[in-house]
Parts: sequence; structure tokens; C-alpha cells
Amino acid sequence: MTQAAELVSFDEAMARYEPVIGLETHVELGTATKMFCGCPTVFGAEPNSAVCPVCLGLPGSLPVANRAAIEYTIRIGLALNCSIASWCRFARKNYFYPDMPKNFQISQYDEPLCTDGWLDVSVEGQVFRVGIERVHLEEDTGKSLHVGGATGRIHGADYSLVDYNRAGIPLVEVVTKPVAGTGSLAPVVARAYVTELRDLLRALGVSDVRMEEGSLRCDVNTSLAPRGAAQWGTRTETKNVNSLRSVERAVRFEIERQAAVLDSGSRVVQETRHLHEDTGTTTAGRSKEEAQDYRYFPEPDLVPIAPERDWVEQIRASLPEFPAARRARLQAEWGLSDLDMAALANAGALDLVAQTVSAGASPAEARKWWLGELARHANEAGVDLSALAVTPAQVARVSELVSAKTLNDKLARQVLEAVLAGEGEPDDVVAARGLAVVNDDGALSAAVDAAIAANPDVAAKIREGKVAAAGALIGEVMKATRGQADAGRARELILERLT
Ligand SMILES: [Zn+2]
Repeated sequence: MTQAAELVSFDEAMARYEPVIGLETHVELGTATKMFCGCPTVFGAEPNSAVCPVCLGLPGSLPVANRAAIEYTIRIGLALNCSIASWCRFARKNYFYPDMPKNFQISQYDEPLCTDGWLDVSVEGQVFRVGIERVHLEEDTGKSLHVGGATGRIHGADYSLVDYNRAGIPLVEVVTKPVAGTGSLAPVVARAYVTELRDLLRALGVSDVRMEEGSLRCDVNTSLAPRGAAQWGTRTETKNVNSLRSVERAVRFEIERQAAVLDSGSRVVQETRHLHEDTGTTTAGRSKEEAQDYRYFPEPDLVPIAPERDWVEQIRASLPEFPAARRARLQAEWGLSDLDMAALANAGALDLVAQTVSAGASPAEARKWWLGELARHANEAGVDLSALAVTPAQVARVSELVSAKTLNDKLARQVLEAVLAGEGEPDDVVAARGLAVVNDDGALSAAVDAAIAANPDVAAKIREGKVAAAGALIGEVMKATRGQADAGRARELILERLT
């Protein structure tokens, strides 16, 4: 049961072994109601307030399939280049678990709605085509809460509570084919796949894809075999990985752990594993050495699904621009290199920059503010760019004020800082703090005259033709106006007087 806890370093493991990964992603659909009843799909409501006889599995209640959920699943299948079944059935998956009120889950087994597709993923300039085995529709379970233990798990808990609000929420499972040939990029490819899938699902409008709230969660399969081996290794399944970073860490850790197991001459046990977010390590869960018998059979309480071809084609025609196509279009419109585009995406700034450009800023200015000043603030606060208290429209307005020479860069940074601190719209901050650039000639002339009078030797040099000396006087003017002078106009005035 207990396996070697030692690890082999990632690079060393990669020198001798070849990984194969696979991902099973569960997506809670954003329909208004549950899969088989009219209960609302809400997150964070009073426990057991969004339930009815159907989703509680009370005797005599009968399910009716949610048409919107079927449509959403077809959208996902089409976007993933899958074939859509012309006829398929739900199946009953029998197992006992306290968070499953019926003691079976309505799922799909050998007749999934969508099969055999693919999703392209770019990593470090290479494109990996991830095969999609199937996309099927099922219902989510409820949620157990174990009270009193240190770990939140059932072991050591004093008692457990169960909330059935989530029971019956439509859940789509997207299962990849095994992904081989990624070599040492396996952890990054896994992460890139989930990122691309998340962005695609968001663009399709079928889910809010919030990993932190569990509306998108991943099981990550990893196996390792000696390089050149004819067969793949035994895989483990790391369950319920709920952040992009954790997807990458789960694959990486399993590679390091399984390499140590294989090096010691043992065999990898087929099992589910749990990822510990604090350490990035996994520990053994349930063994899958004996296949569980769920006694699947066609769900007798539901009619088969037989989507009309016309309807499927209508759905296909209504699909939005996909994220990969949108990125390519924006990159061309903005004239960016692959590297610049990757930097934008990695910083999570792509949508923010696109919205800032839509609000009127130039692409160059929008990038400059989000990747420079605002990225610095986000870093300091330890939050994502999108969590900053500034909107793309506000950034566009600041950029506009700079173009109009109402602000210079230094003042613009102060305005953004004030907006982030909750002092209101950029124009309000400029007015309240009196931050606008001083470029009316009256105030500026006075400052220029004062600077010349105070520095007769510098003025003399300029009169002799040493124009470069004007910099010292401009500095004086900037100081006198607390940085609010238009430096270009100050230079003009100085040269007008002295040359
Ligand atoms: Zn219900």
C-alpha cells in the first residue's frame, strides 16, 4: 500500500521515462435550472434551500431532461470538433454515497452525446492536438461537510452535514484521449489544455468556469514508462484539482514520484490520489485495482435524446469566435510578435487590453499601462490584474488625458494610484487633486522667468548657443510646478527668451 516517498528530480525522470497524461474535466453548466427538475442552480445559497422531490430522489418523483443543458452540451461538443450522436440515452450509475440522495447518478455510459473531437493547445511555440474521447452529460452530486476534524476530511470528524443544493445541477464531463509525445512539457501541456478549455467554455457562455468555486474541476491522469517501451505505464488519477497551477503541479509531482517507484523496481499502483495544495504533493486515495461495478443500465425514467440535425446545425451556426481565433485576430490587429502576445496572455491581460482598446486607447498605450504600472500594483497586492479596482474604461480615459497633454506619464501614474485607492473616476481625481499639467502660458511663463532669474550662469550658456543647458532650467521649472509643467512647452519658452 505505502510506496516510496522519495522523489526523482523532474529532469532526471525525464531523461529515462516518457509520460502520458489524460484529463477529465467536470463543468457545471450555467443553466437557470437543474438537469432534471425546476430547482434553481445557485452557488452559496442557504443549505438545502434549492431542492425538491425530484433532486432529493423522493419515491414517485420523475425526472425530465433540461433542454438548455442538452443544447449547451452540443455547443461544447461542436466547439471541440466532436461528432454529435443522433440518438443516445442516459444511464443509471449505481453507487451509494451520502451526498447522492437517489443512491444512483443519472449519467451517460456507452452512449455519450458527443464523441471523437480535438482541441489544439499552443505551448512554447508548439501546437499539441489533444484528442477528445467524449463529452457527456450527467447530474452533479450534493456536498458533504465534515465538521470537527483538522483536515476537513471524514476521518477524525465529529459529524457530517450534507447540502443537496448542488445535487442535480447539470454537469458536463470532457474526457481527453491519452496525450503522449509531450515529453518534459507534459505538466505545461496539461495546464495549457485546461486553460484553453476554460477560455473556450467561457466564450461559449455555457458556464462561469470558476475553478475556485468548483464549477470547473479536473481529474488529472498521469503514467510513466521507460523511454522506448512498447507499452504505456500504469496511470494514477489525481482527483478534483481546482486551480490551473495545481494541474501543472499534479502532473509534475506524479512524474517525480512514479519515477522513484519505477527506479526502485516496484510497480505503480492504479489508484486515485489527492493533491495537497499547501505542499504540491499527492497521497494515495482509493485503489482502483479492482474495477468498480456501477451496474450501469439505460435510465428507464427518461426518453432517449435524439437531437434533430437541423437543430444541431443551427447551434453550429450560432457558435461565437473561439479564443484561439480571437487571439490570432487581435495579434494581427495590434501588430504584436508571438512573444509579446504570449506575455499578454500569461499576465492575464488579454481581455483587459482588448477592452481598454475598445474603450478608445491605442493598443500600445493599453499594453503599456496594464503590463507596466498596473501589473506592478497587482504584484504588490498579490492579486490578479483583473482583481484590481480599476476598469478598462478608466485606463482608457487616463490614456486619453495623456494624449491630450492634460496629464504627463508621472501625473497619470498618480491618477491611476488614486483610482485604485477608490478616489473615483480619473477626471474627478484630476480635479480634486489639481493634477493637470500646467500648460497655460501665464503660469508657465512665470515659472520660466523665475528659473532664468535664479540661474544667470545657465542662462548665459544658452545665450552662447549651448542649447543642451536648457535641461537644467526645465528641471527647475518642473520642480517649481511640482512636476505638473508640460516639459516640451517649458523648453520652447526658455529657448524663445534666450536664443
Ligand atoms: Zn429539484
